[in-house]
Amino acid sequence: MRHQFASDTWAPMCPAAIRALIEASTRGHVEPYGDDPWTHQAAVMVRELFEKPDLELFFVPTGTASNALALASMCQSYHSVICHQHAHIETDECGAPEFFSNGTKLLTVAGENGKLTPPAVERMVLRRQDIHYPRPKVVSLTQATEVGTVYRLDEIAAIAAVAKRHGLHVHLDGARFANAIAHLGCSPAAATWQVGVDVLCFGGTKNGLGIGELVVFFNAAMAHEFAWRVKQAGHLPAKLRYVAAPWVALLTDGLWLENARHANRMAIELAAGFRQLGLPLRYAVEANEVFVDLKPELASAIQARGWHFYNFIADGGWRFVCSWDTTQADVAALLVDVRACLG
Ligand SMILES: *Cc1c(COP(=O)(O)O)cnc(C)c1O
Repeated sequence: MRHQFASDTWAPMCPAAIRALIEASTRGHVEPYGDDPWTHQAAVMVRELFEKPDLELFFVPTGTASNALALASMCQSYHSVICHQHAHIETDECGAPEFFSNGTKLLTVAGENGKLTPPAVERMVLRRQDIHYPRPKVVSLTQATEVGTVYRLDEIAAIAAVAKRHGLHVHLDGARFANAIAHLGCSPAAATWQVGVDVLCFGGTKNGLGIGELVVFFNAAMAHEFAWRVKQAGHLPAKLRYVAAPWVALLTDGLWLENARHANRMAIELAAGFRQLGLPLRYAVEANEVFVDLKPELASAIQARGWHFYNFIADGGWRFVCSWDTTQADVAALLVDVRACLG
């Protein structure tokens, strides 16, 4: 199926990731549970990528697991996590962060363009400090955001400064971190620990892998006993090489960034096409997602031509997501059908 802009989760694995899976099979027997050459190599590469030799990293199968376990590791059950009202951890993880932390509460905040702001975070921290209210312990940002925008470095630094002032940790849900870096054009270090991020959930699935995300602790002390947490949750695959080897492929020669740049470029092309057709965009297109206003009849007409896309995110607007394998022909074909439906 090519006719789809529903999500980057619909896309297949990229060829390099598939080759890595095969290569990991042809080397016969290796030690299980992460003591294999690919897991070790991935660790070396991630430390190099983030210019931080002492960071700690862990593989988990899904983004939900990475967020939930990372947040649980920072919180007691009586703590709370401040996040945007449209944050994936709030709207799309079936209560996993609360479950794995034994009851940590999510405190949601509204904010334009899918972003938290320093004053909004501070207001939430200061709203209640008494014994009867769950104590804020983490600020969670999504980068790129749920509406396809990207926090600038100074925006993250300012939120992190508020967080640190009040003793909160900073968590980055980076399911589309690669797309954010492709947009920012800065180093991964500059966008994370150098602006105060403590823990990053680094997404691979939406960037061309089949399965597997990374939890990266920039402060190694915060990773204390995290391996046990992962294992207890049932998120430590015995044949971890099959998660790690495709990551090695993705991190080789900047493929992760190339995949993301391509997806972002396709989104920009699509957005330009919508604009030309007079269809208003909801948000700045800074990653691989385009949100556009469509009348319900128009959306149905386009869907009737076989295209897949949704409007379940945030407060409306139809979402079109590009992926590593979206082609210019895909974008052009969609725009031809949209134009035809406009009449
Ligand atoms: C896709 C996504 C995740 C992870 O989702 P899984 O389906 O659990 O892999 C997490 N956060 C954001 C913002 C996402 O878009």
